[in-house]
Amino acid sequence: MSKDDKSKRQEWNISTRITQLGRNPFDHFGFINTPIYRGSTVLFPNVEKLESLDQPYTYGTKGTPTTRALEQAWSEISGAYDTVLVPSGLAAVDLALLTATRAGAHILVTDSVYQPTRSFCDTILKKFGVIVEYYDPLMGKSISDLIRADTTAILVESPGSQSMEIQDVPAISNAAHAHDICIILDNTWATPLFFPPHQRGADLAIEAGTKYLSGHSDILIGLISANEKWSKRLRSTFNSFAIGASPDDASLALRGLRTMALRLRAQEKAGVQLAQWFKQQGEVAQVLHPALSDHPGHDLWRRDFLGSSGVFSVIFNPIEKKSLDAFIDSLQLFGIGFSWGGFESLVLPFDCKSYRTATQWQCTGPAVRFSIGLEDIDDLIEDLRNGFKRLSV
Ligand SMILES: *Cc1c(COP(=O)(O)O)cnc(C)c1O
Repeated sequence: MSKDDKSKRQEWNISTRITQLGRNPFDHFGFINTPIYRGSTVLFPNVEKLESLDQPYTYGTKGTPTTRALEQAWSEISGAYDTVLVPSGLAAVDLALLTATRAGAHILVTDSVYQPTRSFCDTILKKFGVIVEYYDPLMGKSISDLIRADTTAILVESPGSQSMEIQDVPAISNAAHAHDICIILDNTWATPLFFPPHQRGADLAIEAGTKYLSGHSDILIGLISANEKWSKRLRSTFNSFAIGASPDDASLALRGLRTMALRLRAQEKAGVQLAQWFKQQGEVAQVLHPALSDHPGHDLWRRDFLGSSGVFSVIFNPIEKKSLDAFIDSLQLFGIGFSWGGFESLVLPFDCKSYRTATQWQCTGPAVRFSIGLEDIDDLIEDLRNGFKRLSV
């Protein structure tokens, strides 16, 4: 579809739009999908074109028709001005941080941040003289109290990785924008389908496309979308590093995009059902899922989000490690491993205490994160029910 069709597309629901975006069949002999263009060198027809760079593609690191298709689709879904693609979600976080800070600057990072992001801040950013301060994820507009004259960026992630706090992103954004500070939002859990990042105040929004965009655990890809104000700086940082995603992975991400709404809705439904099931189990102390009415961030979630994805955490009553391990090991339908968002359900024990610095993790029992896949819910419950028998041995 051409640019002129954009306003027409905006009348459609998002699940319709994701079937249309990022492809233009009659540029490709009528084939429905954008083909995979691999390449480094792009030829110019003459010296004049070379010197003016006046053609859509100039070199492989700057993008191909395949990567641009995904960039454009993602910008439209996110309500962004531009998007760049990088080879992982973590690379997306790193590039966004490098875009919005400089030596000697101060940045604020939520204490509930994805742990490898924290590690990048504490090593690379520190090494280059950035002052990193962690803040309580439950702070809203009072974040103003932490803003200094040299603050350049605030990183938000909602819900928090593993601990699932919902942040007041609009309030934090308003406070930041009063001082011309960049809001970087890691929006991986909700995706733009459930949380329109730029409408809620993000200047740069990150998606680990490895998770729900891929949906099949077979690629690593990261996306950073920017509003108009930050787009030039983002693109310039991206061009300097020249770490683009491969066209093959962009093509698989475009394939994932077609079914993303369907998968997210199915995983949301199963996730909420399972979260409610966990709540009824005697061995469970707390279920951390923002769509449950007793979650501390539930009201903010209802105000700002359009849905919940299939990732949530469960806090068990204090039990011996070996019986929790036996429970996890016994599960047949939940793979043990990092990442999430695929068709297979996953389980991962975690311990926030081991890395938090600005706040205290209050839960006393062991914590486990679940990512719900696309299996039948009755089979998942049966598997968990069998696993729970191991908890009491
Ligand atoms: C997984 C994840 C990332 C990193 O994505 P990778 O592609 O695995 O590097 C970043 N942020 C959040 C919130 C994540 O869950």
